[in-house]
Amino acid sequence: AKQGMRGGLLWFSPSMSSASRQRLSLLNDLELAIGGNQLTVHYQPQIELQTGQVIAVEALVRWPLPDGQLIPPDQFIPLAEQSGLIIELGEWLLDTVCKQIATWRDQGLGGLRVAINVSMVQFNHDGLIDLLAEALRRYLIPPELIEVEITESVAMRKPEDVIARIDQLKRLGVQVAIDDFGTGFSSLAYLQRLKADRLKIDRAFIRDMGTGETSIAEMVINLGHKLGIRVLAEGVEFPAQAAILRSLGCDEAQGYLYAKPAPAELLTLWLQETGQ
Ligand code: C2E
Ligand code: CA
Ligand code: CA
Ligand code: CA
Repeated sequence: AKQGMRGGLLWFSPSMSSASRQRLSLLNDLELAIGGNQLTVHYQPQIELQTGQVIAVEALVRWPLPDGQLIPPDQFIPLAEQSGLIIELGEWLLDTVCKQIATWRDQGLGGLRVAINVSMVQFNHDGLIDLLAEALRRYLIPPELIEVEITESVAMRKPEDVIARIDQLKRLGVQVAIDDFGTGFSSLAYLQRLKADRLKIDRAFIRDMGTGETSIAEMVINLGHKLGIRVLAEGVEFPAQAAILRSLGCDEAQGYLYAKPAPAELLTLWLQETGQ
């Protein structure tokens, strides 16, 4: 065995697989990067389809290496999630985002909402509500300028717990979005109890629109509107997709067609240039 139990403790032998070694070293580096304030956040605009106005941005974390290369979140978020490091990462992210909201306010770009991604471990963590409340207080941010995104798969985990947690978030005044929507099997009755502000149609269904397959997007838009929930399409890359979404009555869109995720300074310039 390359790895096993001895005296009830996990031990690592010199012959431990290189995959496990890499994992450990990556975790170690990630912990240092979080503590050393080395992670960075990119922001991607969300556009109102009728007016073309930017109504919000989504915060997406990146890990810059010394050579300037950026590690995408898919390559370290799952590991952070498994190890519990995601809690520290989430605290850092929330502080960074709230500081940025305060900066935008000072630059006359107040009122821009920021959506943050909250993973399963973070969503279930007891400290979540206090953490949010404290960050909002620290930077004097109105709660409606923060939106918490949870994926549909997280939302379907333990219905009663999820409903209770979303109620807490709503009482705090932050908004709630259901991310990657359409991949799970949420029922109409359950969605009604969730009281989300926004459904985000998963990118896969927007991609399918290229082949003429619009039924899932259409279903999510109608479902959302029946329940008074706004619907945003993710991963919009082509004008034809935006046109179809507009004709289906979709409220908002996000994707490379409008802007790629970018550092706050670039986004600020872009917002000023486009007169937002
Ligand atoms: P997500 O929440 O579904 O984020 C949307 C992803 O789609 C982002 O990838 C974004 O860059 C990408 N995207 C946006 N527009 C387009 C488009 O038009 N075409 C294509 N092909 N892609 C587009 P990214 O930034 O690599 O993030 C990947 C995932 O990592 C996110 O998926 C989210 O689940 C997770 N993530 C990112 N930041 C955080 C964070 O701070 N905390 C947590 N817990 N998870 C995060
Ligand atoms: Ca998201
Ligand atoms: Ca998504
Ligand atoms: Ca995703």
